[in-house]
Amino acid sequence: MSLTRYLKGECSHCGGRIEFPADAIGATVDCPHCGKATELMLATKEVIATTFRPLPLYVMAALMYWAFSLCFEMLQYRIERRLGKSTR
Ligand SMILES: [Zn+2]
Repeated sequence: MSLTRYLKGECSHCGGRIEFPADAIGATVDCPHCGKATELMLATKEVIATTFRPLPLYVMAALMYWAFSLCFEMLQYRIERRLGKSTR
């Protein structure tokens, strides 16, 4: 088992996918697809995927709970106003 993380990048010339070990990032290699020298870096898609991770479940749950309680509060406010007119 190896701890080396492999990253996916793309050739700056032909756009071909290149997988490389994480510690080789920034190194210049010959592209296996077109043979031209290219710098190893993360593909744009991969950068987005690693930067903008989906919200953790607990944050989602908190947001849902917050949204629900807000909805209920508004609903309650409306009902109370309606009832208030007839009872007060
Ligand atoms: Zn290439």
